Amino acid sequence: MNDLINVMQPCLGERELAAVREVFESNWIGRGKRTAEFEARFAEHIGVGREHVVSVNSCTEATFIAMDLLGVGPGDEVVLPSISFVGAANAIASRGARPVFCDVDAHTLNPRVSDIEAALTPRTKAVIVLHYGGHPGDVVAIAALCRDRGVKLIEDAAIAVDSQVDGQACGTFGDIAMWSFDHGKIVVTVDGGMLYVRDPELAARAPKVAYLGMEQRSGFDQAMRASTRWWDFDVTSFSRRSTTNDVLSAIGIVQLERLPEFIARRAEVAASYDEGFAGLAGLRRPPVLPAGHRTSHYMYWVQLDPELRDVVARDLYARGVYTTFRYPPLHEVPSYGWTTPLPNTEAAAAGTLLLPMHQGLSDDDVRRVVDSVRECVTARTLGQAA
Ligand SMILES: *Cc1c(COP(=O)(O)O)cnc(C)c1O
Repeated sequence: MNDLINVMQPCLGERELAAVREVFESNWIGRGKRTAEFEARFAEHIGVGREHVVSVNSCTEATFIAMDLLGVGPGDEVVLPSISFVGAANAIASRGARPVFCDVDAHTLNPRVSDIEAALTPRTKAVIVLHYGGHPGDVVAIAALCRDRGVKLIEDAAIAVDSQVDGQACGTFGDIAMWSFDHGKIVVTVDGGMLYVRDPELAARAPKVAYLGMEQRSGFDQAMRASTRWWDFDVTSFSRRSTTNDVLSAIGIVQLERLPEFIARRAEVAASYDEGFAGLAGLRRPPVLPAGHRTSHYMYWVQLDPELRDVVARDLYARGVYTTFRYPPLHEVPSYGWTTPLPNTEAAAAGTLLLPMHQGLSDDDVRRVVDSVRECVTARTLGQAA
């Protein structure tokens, strides 16, 4: 078998190593100036004020913090597409609230405004949407709907690090958003996330919630003069420690600088796939982006006859091309206790396959994927017809 071509893969190199070495040598490895710089650069990247972002140890943790900040609790409902990251539903359920799963468009795998609207009830406190594959989806219209209904919008922008609508960054359309820098994402810090909070008061609370809810009772200057000590504190929430550190942030600074180059390569790969699969019977390419939308090219997904999807995936694996499907529908996970069918979600989940998509793919890899997919799909489609 040839070397396996991965679906996703990080791109870390000498520059990241040099940045880590510098942090080691500085002897300040905890949360310090690199973390502050990474936050400032990320805020600039998404076009918001620096005081609205706080870095955390994962995107999942940011979702849990969002639930804390919004005070989601028992009796509340939070709407999200069934095709969502499992951590989003866990964040809701962990607060004693109810995840309400909505359907998606079967081709984009993003929810339409009508899907969200149909799931709203007087108990809906918030809506969480992601940007499937990096495509922004109907986020503008969904944000308008949420504003109208007085419901908070949370954007799980984990995979939308460079996605935009008309020049505005995904993640900045709603009230709260989060990004992921885990090992499988585009900007990688090994593990890490970023939290954006629009409301200034909530944004000021976010860093405290991310660090044990701690509030110093006085600074050094005050403590030197007064009777308090600088190690005295109170807590404003019973929170976890969700912060990151300067080793990981130093990696993030370099990765963010390399992002344009990463995205450019991903766009080339996507264009080669589009061309390579043109006219291939039995395979549907991903949807064309609407005008004004920009994608991060996080995923390249194709759709096949559900009867053939799994066998084609196995055939491809045997030829050294790894494929997968994200995100398996949460309404089918027994613990969430959901019983209503979601037809488009089920159809999409049965027929969609993610092909290798990362900036480390060589032209040879891309050719191998195209040839393998063409041959496997054609062989199975003809086999089915015979
Ligand atoms: C990866 C991912 C997450 C979780 O990110 P972590 O940083 O690993 O916690 C959340 N949402 C989506 C859509 C993801 O792909």
